[in-house]
Amino acid sequence: YDAKRKRNTVRIFQPDLEGKYLLRARIEQLLRGAEKRGEIYMNYQPQVDSSGRLHGVEALVRWNPPELGFVPPDQFVAVAEHSGQMTALGDFIIDNALQEIADIQSSSGRSFCLSLNISVKQLSEPDFADKLQEKIVASGLAFVNVVVEITENILIDDVERMRAVLEQIHAQGIRISLDDFGTGYSSLSLLRHLPLDEIKIDKSFVDHLIEDETALRMARNIVAIGRNYNVTLVAEGVETEAQLECLNQIGCDLYQGYYFSRPLSAEALRCFLDERPL
Ligand code: C2E
Ligand code: MG
Ligand code: MG
Ligand code: MG
Repeated sequence: YDAKRKRNTVRIFQPDLEGKYLLRARIEQLLRGAEKRGEIYMNYQPQVDSSGRLHGVEALVRWNPPELGFVPPDQFVAVAEHSGQMTALGDFIIDNALQEIADIQSSSGRSFCLSLNISVKQLSEPDFADKLQEKIVASGLAFVNVVVEITENILIDDVERMRAVLEQIHAQGIRISLDDFGTGYSSLSLLRHLPLDEIKIDKSFVDHLIEDETALRMARNIVAIGRNYNVTLVAEGVETEAQLECLNQIGCDLYQGYYFSRPLSAEALRCFLDERPL
């Protein structure tokens, strides 16, 4: 386990368990206080409607520690969750995103939605709904412009408690979105039990839409289910015009993906807005 290998462990496949363990331990150690050292920042990926109008942005966290280089968020968020760091990291993410988007909205005179990915550990905090409410009030952003994205792994914890927290958040006027829809085994029962306003069709369906009849049929079925439950349908990972046309034709409401824009820094988002007067 030499220094050179350590530097590269994040990007390359690590077949041995020991290497994986060491990397996790290193991430856990370096992540502590990373937000205070200015290593954590947010990117924002636009979501547009079928006419190309900006509907909102999804906040995506970024971490670039000098010791490791860029670490993918799903990797360090998982470590944060298992090492008791998610509350500190989550608070930083929420504060930062609300502040930056509120600033951009007031200086550009535009109003659009902000989607926040909220992990199961955050939802399990005893005062999470109240805290979120206070943070939104402090930011000045409208509650109707805030969307909370959750994934199916919230079922790992106590579903009834999760449902109660989401009901409380929903009652404040915040919208709830189910991310990566269709990839877990409980998507349908969640639709019945949770106060959902939106589902995000997972990128894995969008990826194969054009050449794979099964993926297309699945996407159609998801749209039909969404219609039945009266939720907004967002397609994620849209990369080509052909995918967009297909999704538009089967009845999606909103689109997100590299075809429209990669995730942008706050500064780049300002430019994106300037270039799109609508
Ligand atoms: P997600 O919430 O499903 O976010 C969508 C991911 O797809 C993002 O990856 C985004 O950059 C990527 N993506 C969007 N459009 C395209 C496309 O057209 N092509 C391709 N190849 N990729 C696309 P990212 O930023 O690496 O985030 C990965 C996951 O990490 C997220 O999946 C989410 O589960 C988690 N994550 C990111 N930020 C946060 C956060 O602030 N809090 C929490 N709890 N989780 C986060
Ligand atoms: Mg998401
Ligand atoms: Mg997603
Ligand atoms: Mg996904």
